[in-house]
Amino acid sequence: MSYYDLTSIEAEYDMVIIGGGPAGCTAAIYGKRDDLSVLILEKQFMGGALITTYEVENYPGIPETISGVDLAKRFYQHAENLGAHIRNGTCTNIEMDGNIKLVHVDGMDKPIRAKTIILCTGASPRLPGATNEDKFFGKGLSVCATCDGTFYKGKTVAVIGGGDAAVEEGEYLTRHVDKIFLIHRRVGFRAAKVALDRFLGSPKVETILDTVVKSMEGDPYLETLILENTKTGETTELKVDGLFVFVGSTANSQGFENMATEIDANGYFITDNLMNTGVEGVFAAGDCRKKEVYQITTATNDGTLAAKGATKFIIENF
Ligand code: NAP
Repeated sequence: MSYYDLTSIEAEYDMVIIGGGPAGCTAAIYGKRDDLSVLILEKQFMGGALITTYEVENYPGIPETISGVDLAKRFYQHAENLGAHIRNGTCTNIEMDGNIKLVHVDGMDKPIRAKTIILCTGASPRLPGATNEDKFFGKGLSVCATCDGTFYKGKTVAVIGGGDAAVEEGEYLTRHVDKIFLIHRRVGFRAAKVALDRFLGSPKVETILDTVVKSMEGDPYLETLILENTKTGETTELKVDGLFVFVGSTANSQGFENMATEIDANGYFITDNLMNTGVEGVFAAGDCRKKEVYQITTATNDGTLAAKGATKFIIENF
């Protein structure tokens, strides 16, 4: 059955999962183990943000380095092998009809009826707030090294950020580019130390600390970054062929505001311990949920708990 065949979607499911990343696939696996009918709706690519991760080396049980694409494939094949339906479709909105949720999907005449919903919509990258940043998207500015890194073979690029994403994606860039300036707004890093030390140990990497990018210049492609030292206020120019930005994310909760009683300022769903959003039978799991640690392992943990919460809700209410 094709993932694109929306006509094969059934009229009603016990569990509809919005988003096919690690959280969504895990929820589907646990839902099927509880004998529920399960649909995963994914609007882009199965695997979510995991497929833009070049290498994963911290997923338990997989001691060898595995690509994000391969790990993602294992997740969704596992869910599908257990009988979960997986379809490529964009959920536009969800409305409540008593205990039932009506899931509206682009291109479908009728909404899907769902006893429970698990929102696994992930998060999208933020930009640093520099002048002209919107002008250079796809013209020298990227938020995905594994997608765009090969375009900069032998070139000079800058990376902004001090977290795991900046370090991990920056390390991927060292395979292609000649020179990387790592621009970070302070001296301390959030990134895991082993990966950070390995990245900073590359002879291609030069750090520019206590510094932010104030403005981006070039016509039509990005050529120059105007940097500002956060301690001294001094501004300098940096010539680059490309810029990769990893300064955190905003949750993809737009359109689902009615599916949670609380959403924080960055769009993250606030949940209880069983991932319930405060709306009966609705759960949020993975990168779209407010939590302390964003990892594949915490996404699968969330997916597990959300599925168990959904099963409990069905037993108690249907
Ligand atoms: P993050 O951990 O929130 O780091 C964002 C970085 O950008 C921070 O260093 C922050 O500086 C900086 N920053 C924020 N706003 C900025 C601005 N306007 N201008 C300049 N710099 C700015 O985000 P992330 O790296 O995307 O990671 C998100 C989550 O995913 C984290 O929990 C991370 O652990 C997880 N993750 C894990 C892995 C992995 O384990 N392999 C890979 C990727 C992501 P400050 O430090 O000063 O706030």
